[in-house]
Amino acid sequence: MAVSKKVLAMIETSSWIRRMFEAGNALRAEHGRDKVCDFSLGNPDVEPPAAFQQALREVVDAVVPLKHGYMPNAGYAETRDCVAALVSKEQGVPVDGTHVVMSCGASGGLNSALKAILNPGDEVLASIPCFMEYASYVDNHGGTLVLVPSRPDFDLDVEALESRIGPKTAALIVNSPNNPSGRIYPRETLADLAAMLERAGRKAGRTIHLIADEPYRKLVYDGARVPGIMSLYPHSIVVSSHSKDLSLPGERIGFVAISPRADDARKLVDGIILCTRILGYVNAPALMQRTVARLQGLSVDTEIYRKKRDLFCSALSSMGYELTLPQGAFYIFPRAPGGDDLAFVRALQEELILVVPGRGFSLPGWFRIAYCVDTAFIEKSLPGFERAARKMKA
Ligand code: PLP
Repeated sequence: MAVSKKVLAMIETSSWIRRMFEAGNALRAEHGRDKVCDFSLGNPDVEPPAAFQQALREVVDAVVPLKHGYMPNAGYAETRDCVAALVSKEQGVPVDGTHVVMSCGASGGLNSALKAILNPGDEVLASIPCFMEYASYVDNHGGTLVLVPSRPDFDLDVEALESRIGPKTAALIVNSPNNPSGRIYPRETLADLAAMLERAGRKAGRTIHLIADEPYRKLVYDGARVPGIMSLYPHSIVVSSHSKDLSLPGERIGFVAISPRADDARKLVDGIILCTRILGYVNAPALMQRTVARLQGLSVDTEIYRKKRDLFCSALSSMGYELTLPQGAFYIFPRAPGGDDLAFVRALQEELILVVPGRGFSLPGWFRIAYCVDTAFIEKSLPGFERAARKMKA
């Protein structure tokens, strides 16, 4: 066999999100594009802001020596400084450009950071429901992802997290606003978490890193804000990207910011820079670095997503779906009518509607809707959602 046993097994149990996307392609081929309501993938349909097109044009036209050449692996100093200025504001801690490493999206940043901190056999904690690519990213670097249930309202369960910390715990990943629940973790919860990690780290005699995966930080509604972790916990690493806030997932541009107060912060930065190089990304894309340097703080118009969220949530609630209004990101995570998420997802497929079962986020019994799609598909899908729910309850 040309493929390793491990990768073969991974192909077979490949991500539910991808599986649903592929199911969508099959349905589209059979029934036609406009007949299938595909809410499976978090691929934003909102175009990047006009300022992005303008900045990109300027960057392309600018005459700069070695514009397409190799650069320092951490990225351009100018871009790192611009990112650091915004991170300092968001996190409430002064961070300079030397503590920022530009990355190929949040995924690239997470992999560089995890490779830099993990020793073989280390554990990384995450709260479920969560983005399940974390399991592969942690496994890539010799670690194991330990999944811990959240509270019924999807807030972090700090006590449950503490109970799973042991001598092998190297890090905890938090993702707020959360994919799939849309939950923003409140400042008080993060303060409790920080105190717990300090305590647990002292007891275990090792530094436990807190990694905040924040690609949805700017996609928040109703005046919500995402508290920064750096002002609460010294050993913090913030990873983000412009995949969602500027609608640039295909451009693979993101960053890692390391708290200057972290243990051995300088060495940690150097490690993450080295890992960016040896993981094969070498550096984040040059043109995108120069472009996003001019766009820090900007995002797509979140009103567009807010309207889709409200339309979808109020329609589903009136049909009897059990859900909490998401505070951020562009996902809704309702309970699956009838309780079996797979059976329900199949019932929706019969209506030519695609969603991801909760087990794709390690939480069976729920399902995820990605509403970053044309509003016409949301409207078109509603009778199908009503019929599928009725069928499951019958
Ligand atoms: N983290 C979360 C929670 C995500 O939902 C995603 C993508 O959907 C990523 C990371 C990866 O983002 P990127 O495209 O920037 O690599």
